[in-house]
Amino acid sequence: MPWCEACQREVDDSELDEEGGCPTCGTVLTGPHRVPWHFRVLVVATAIYLLYRLVQGLMWLAHHI
Ligand SMILES: [Zn+2]
Repeated sequence: MPWCEACQREVDDSELDEEGGCPTCGTVLTGPHRVPWHFRVLVVATAIYLLYRLVQGLMWLAHHI
């Protein structure tokens, strides 16, 4: 089910209007380039974590050479 950011709720597919918009506020929720916000958060969090581990690994190397 698509998530409407403006209404802070999930909108059932059957509730969407003809353009794939939210029935309450009209924000278009379906489209070819729509990425769920929680997926973007996950990607950013993973990137930060990997960067942190990389820095940690470099610090370890610096102390063991
Ligand atoms: Zn809405």
